[in-house]
Amino acid sequence: MIIGICGAGTMGRGIAIASLTAGHRVVFFDIAEQALEAARSNVVAQLRKAVEKGRLDAEVCSIAELNISTSTSLNAMAEANIVIEAVAEKLDIKHALFTELENVCGPETILASNTSSISIASLARCLRDPSRFAGLHFFNPAHIMKLVEVIKGPRTSDAVLDTCIAFAKGLGKTPVIAADAPGFIVNRIARNYYNESQRIVMEGAATIPQVDTLMKGLGFKMGPFELMDLIGVDVNLDVTKSQWEQFFHEPRFTPSLLQQQYVDAGLHGKKTDGGFYRY
Ligand code: NAD
Repeated sequence: MIIGICGAGTMGRGIAIASLTAGHRVVFFDIAEQALEAARSNVVAQLRKAVEKGRLDAEVCSIAELNISTSTSLNAMAEANIVIEAVAEKLDIKHALFTELENVCGPETILASNTSSISIASLARCLRDPSRFAGLHFFNPAHIMKLVEVIKGPRTSDAVLDTCIAFAKGLGKTPVIAADAPGFIVNRIARNYYNESQRIVMEGAATIPQVDTLMKGLGFKMGPFELMDLIGVDVNLDVTKSQWEQFFHEPRFTPSLLQQQYVDAGLHGKKTDGGFYRY
């Protein structure tokens, strides 16, 4: 299949690697030429590293490298069987993109969003045909994490849902059907992990490294602050804000002033020169 990926950032890259190694062709679209160049070289470097480590067949890698194309024109999505959107977690930006995609793609193309929190119903309302739309929520790093939340909006067709599930399985993933509620399953639970940890730090009850160390001591693979740095402190804050708004400003989902300060300072995590930690 041809998989169109809109947004060549953290998630777009991981979804591309998962798709390429499963034998699909990948077409990247991004508004920033620089992001496309960085994504291509990052994807190729990660594929080659996987070969070196014996985790990927050299021939699969060579074919995968030939199967990547990039474009700053949305017309490149015209031939895609599935388009997965992974741009900023903002409803207006995603709406503008999907409205245009519906004009570019044929009627059979499935349009999917990797949104972490925005309801599929509200994303799909900009489309003439909302039955072609579903949520395909991968986790970071998308080529490694097995879980994919497949979200059926109120108007998603059963055929589209089935294709999304089959696609995720074909990537070697474990798809789980999630209801169309803000934050779906994982991010709804995870909001408490991030928010409560930040409250603890703001109250002076523990430091950032102490919180992370303690949570890892309990068996979590990463502490909340390490995880926010991996996700992107900015992206994670957008998700918290989106979920809080969709829950009518429910207090337990209130975004943290601490996180806002890090975002304002440009400390967005691993993708910049630092976040809660320095890299
Ligand atoms: P990112 O900031 O790393 O990358 C976003 C990319 O989208 C950038 O390259 C940017 O240039 C591009 N972009 C912005 N507006 C665009 C537009 N209108 N058209 C095309 N490209 C555009 O973001 P990310 O972390 O990859 O997150 C993308 C989406 O995936 C968000 O909805 C986020 O909530 C979701 N998500 C993120 C994670 C995570 O851990 N980072 C996990 C799961 C889901």
